[in-house]
Amino acid sequence: MESKITFVKGDITLQDTDAIVNAANSSLLGGGGVDGAIHRAAGPKLDEECRKIGGCPTGQAVITTGGNLKAKYVIHTVGPVWHGGTLNEPDLLASCYINSLKLADENGIKTIAFPSISTGAYGYPVEQAAHIAVKTVSDYLKNNIAIEEVRFVLFSDRDYQVYVKAYKELK
Ligand code: ADP
Repeated sequence: MESKITFVKGDITLQDTDAIVNAANSSLLGGGGVDGAIHRAAGPKLDEECRKIGGCPTGQAVITTGGNLKAKYVIHTVGPVWHGGTLNEPDLLASCYINSLKLADENGIKTIAFPSISTGAYGYPVEQAAHIAVKTVSDYLKNNIAIEEVRFVLFSDRDYQVYVKAYKELK
């Protein structure tokens, strides 16, 4: 069977999946990086929905509509800040992927795009983050028949290569 996990180099705001995932901060009020790009592309409705939700703890996820995006939903998850790996960063990062996928399931989302959570401003080493991302998603999909595609959208050639390699190494 063809894999449900795919990799593209590109801009997550342009994806045509049912949902895109935002690497948000715990205030949900928008920031730099992928968060800023998603808020700009989605428009003010996203800010308003996020303000109503009020915030989100690290490792958890919340859902809003997609505003002006092609995607119907945005799932906002808060990745851990890298402090060297001794503050539960791996489990918190895995929780981001699991809780996002659970929310997708609960909302009938069949296709979902993830950015490389925590590896920008939050400083998580990308090789380690990529391994956790692809392993967690792959394990989740073993017990799930509803989700049809999980697309990793990587912003640089290097990140794309790191994620594809991490996935090959799982097998
Ligand atoms: P974090 O705070 O979780 O580290 P960042 O937004 O700083 O989040 O970075 C996460 C990743 O998202 C980085 O690899 C960054 O290059 C990437 N990124 C930034 N803009 C976009 C975009 N428009 N689409 C996809 N990925 C993006």
